[in-house]
Amino acid sequence: MKLQFLGGGQEVGRLGILIENDGARALFDYGMTATDPPELPMEAPPVDAVFLTHSHLDHCGMIPWLSDRYDLDVFATPITKEISQILMFDSIKVGQAEGYPEPYDKESVRKTLRDFVTIDYGSTIDALGLEITAHAAGHIPGATMYELSGRKNTLITGDIHTLNQRLVWGAHPIKCDDLIIESTYAGREHPERTKIEYQLISKIEEVVDRGGTAIVPAFAVGRTQEVMLLLSDTKFDYWIDGMGKTVARRYLEHSEYLRSSKKLANARRRGHEVRTPRARAAALKGEVIVTTSGMLDGGPVISYLTELKNDEKSAVLLTGYQVEGTNGRRLVETGMMEFYGNLERVRCEVGFFDISAHAGHSDLIRFIKDCSPERVILCHGDQRELLADPLRRDGFEVLTPMNGEEFEL
Ligand SMILES: [Zn+2]
Repeated sequence: MKLQFLGGGQEVGRLGILIENDGARALFDYGMTATDPPELPMEAPPVDAVFLTHSHLDHCGMIPWLSDRYDLDVFATPITKEISQILMFDSIKVGQAEGYPEPYDKESVRKTLRDFVTIDYGSTIDALGLEITAHAAGHIPGATMYELSGRKNTLITGDIHTLNQRLVWGAHPIKCDDLIIESTYAGREHPERTKIEYQLISKIEEVVDRGGTAIVPAFAVGRTQEVMLLLSDTKFDYWIDGMGKTVARRYLEHSEYLRSSKKLANARRRGHEVRTPRARAAALKGEVIVTTSGMLDGGPVISYLTELKNDEKSAVLLTGYQVEGTNGRRLVETGMMEFYGNLERVRCEVGFFDISAHAGHSDLIRFIKDCSPERVILCHGDQRELLADPLRRDGFEVLTPMNGEEFEL
């Protein structure tokens, strides 16, 4: 079996794993990094199939480019198909608004929709001369790990979380010979989730008690719903804005991928969805606003912050890692951020709460040991050595291939 990372080797983002076996070629994910402009993976040669792990843009974002050129099947869970298309159409809109060339158009996305073949956890597909089985990956609803069974067993994790979240159950290890695993959090631990949740709730309470509004920027896919579930257990009056509203609705239509659809339905009912300018004005007088984008690069969060940035009683409470080069990172580091092209100081309180959908360093080590592979191939990480070193000390053979480098398994 020949492998090559077309992207997402030594970096977090734009994953594309090209596999050649038995005279056939397939890709596992083909995404773009949603920077401004987006970073694209290397050009893929003709492939017969794409196995999509989940509906984040850095995993699914470039599949329409493939549909434009090649005759292929795109395997994914129904909810991954549903949410991916929302993001693909949205990425065209963002590209047009920002004025950079888009790698595909709406017709390409419609082609991709026709290429999708939906599968469920437990489904097995014959491809590459192997049997390929889908397993739950934790992370977000519908996220899939692929187990490739032939002479040997290879597991491709995509993005995983091994601990239970409010939205989805954690992933279970699968025995394999070769393990291709993400390493986003190599060298970094998450604080215990219940502690972080407690800290976030306490901070919101403080903000509300002093008469302010807490703005909680969150990614539309996964994080918004996770925060909704947390808030539904509190007494706060909360508002939901941005694409996360649509995603929540779609999740409820595919309840089999949720830990509890009852709880998510309740969280939707308990909060208010912002659908009109009047509702937006009401939200500004409310207690909590959960909205996109998670890293403050556009989305309704900018308009809310425009109103509240000088209100020292209010706060912006970030819920995820802020990638280098984003508006959110700039805010954390300098106290300034960009509003419609102008750099301005933010005087309201700024907080950070690490609610991650990825396995932390020790979670990854534990998961890898429980899969008991002979070889571990680390990808999707910019600090892979921090994970490779302890694994090698424990006797594992570890590979850290660079983008473009061909290797055999
Ligand atoms: Zn992801």
